[in-house]
Amino acid sequence: MELEQNLSRLRSIVPEGVSIVAVSKFHPVAALRQAYDAGQRIFGENRVQELLEKARQLPSDIEWHMIGHLQTNKVRPLVPIVSMIESIDSVKLLNLVAREAASIHKTVDVLLQLHVAKEETKTGFGVGELLELLTTGELAAPEGVRIRGLMAMASNTDDAEQVAREFQTVADTFAVLHEEFFTDPSFNVLSMGMSHDWRIAVEHGATHIRVGSAIFGDREY
Ligand SMILES: *Cc1c(COP(=O)(O)O)cnc(C)c1O
Repeated sequence: MELEQNLSRLRSIVPEGVSIVAVSKFHPVAALRQAYDAGQRIFGENRVQELLEKARQLPSDIEWHMIGHLQTNKVRPLVPIVSMIESIDSVKLLNLVAREAASIHKTVDVLLQLHVAKEETKTGFGVGELLELLTTGELAAPEGVRIRGLMAMASNTDDAEQVAREFQTVADTFAVLHEEFFTDPSFNVLSMGMSHDWRIAVEHGATHIRVGSAIFGDREY
């Protein structure tokens, strides 16, 4: 029951128009099924193997979002199943996803992951790096992918102002990209905010929040 309560409470406070990606990594299929039965349709996983195994056991109208670092050798099995890859962090990966998708006549929605947090361990393009790659044309949207927007994680800190600054950087970058490089209206996804900081993310324009523990409870690693 707790899971349903968590979900309905979250839905009641998240503003309309903001999508909830239920981050179900490390949680058993039964928990995802419970969330599904409560109406949840977008699930986020950070490991390909786990995503594929769960997808096999759950209804096909689920939209699976890959949110973790993606190794190039895992792209091929993922592409047919996934709805959105939120964690594109290199040109090489983008082009590979495009090639695999095009080969099965699919277009995969992707987000470019932006690195704005202090932690070095987090992946993603730096803001300057991304603008440079776009300006030189090294990064473009090849056939097979549709670049829908940006994904980012803020620093893991209690300093709400730091988090707010980082989310604002993402929002500003999103605006520049939309203005100068991706003018299509389908460039409209800003995925940021997790269980502890989604409220700040929404204040700064998040269209998608990725919430795990606030729905499913704590993970056991
Ligand atoms: C695990 C994870 C989340 C969800 O984290 P919670 O704190 O459990 O809400 C969101 N985004 C990414 C990229 C993650 O890996």
